[in-house]
Amino acid sequence: MTTTAILSALAEEQQGLLALLEHPQQTRHAGRDFWHGRLHGQPVVLALSRIGKVAAATTSVALIEHFKVSRIVFTGVAGGLGEGVQVGDVVVASEFMQHDMDASPIFQRYEVPLYGQARFACDKALTALLVQASRAGLESLALPAKTLLHHGLVASGDRFVSGATESRSLRSALGQGGHEVLAVEMEGAAVAQVCFDYGLPFAAMRTISDRADDAAHVDFPAFVKDVASLYAQAMVRHLLEML
Ligand code: SAH
Repeated sequence: MTTTAILSALAEEQQGLLALLEHPQQTRHAGRDFWHGRLHGQPVVLALSRIGKVAAATTSVALIEHFKVSRIVFTGVAGGLGEGVQVGDVVVASEFMQHDMDASPIFQRYEVPLYGQARFACDKALTALLVQASRAGLESLALPAKTLLHHGLVASGDRFVSGATESRSLRSALGQGGHEVLAVEMEGAAVAQVCFDYGLPFAAMRTISDRADDAAHVDFPAFVKDVASLYAQAMVRHLLEML
């Protein structure tokens, strides 16, 4: 059976998954803890991406090279940037880009040098399953009817976006480059690029913890603790049952 890696950015997001892991075995590698075991009948490795693009890339390479996983699924939180993307909503990524990549004028703004592209697509089949699993997960949590599931472009960068002015200017700069972004976080684009290099399927879902505005630093910690880990548990269960 093939092994699925489940990446979380923060320990609070991972806790609920770890609690359900059967026959847990811990390995330390590259200064990180990896947990193997079975979750809902499937072999998995649970890992913390850690925060930021470089940390997430290192973790992804370790999962691929050392733990030989067959696919990577990311569950985490993000700031809502697109219109109508509200706290408590879920975004399943179709593509990722780096909002802080800028090698202009040599390369187009946001283009990753030598790749000839700014955006890295998630795996279509795995992402379609994650959309289904997220929908089923939201239903099983019996959330308010206004909770939405979005699907589209997510931007990553090494910055916690926490100001209304900052998030407006980020959104407008990305828009000028032709990039309509739903949410902003700090790891996904790095994992997507590593998976592109290795030809490994990748899918990601992010629960919206804040609106990347002046209240982001207040909304974020409470949300991660109380809500995001419940969402992750529900969606991962549905996804693993579909694999
Ligand atoms: N203070 C936190 C730091 C979290 S950084 C701590 O105690 O560790 C924010 C994490 O959530 C990152 O993993 C990032 O991917 C995601 N995130 C949520 N909201 C974000 C925002 N508004 N901007 C950038 N990243 C955000």
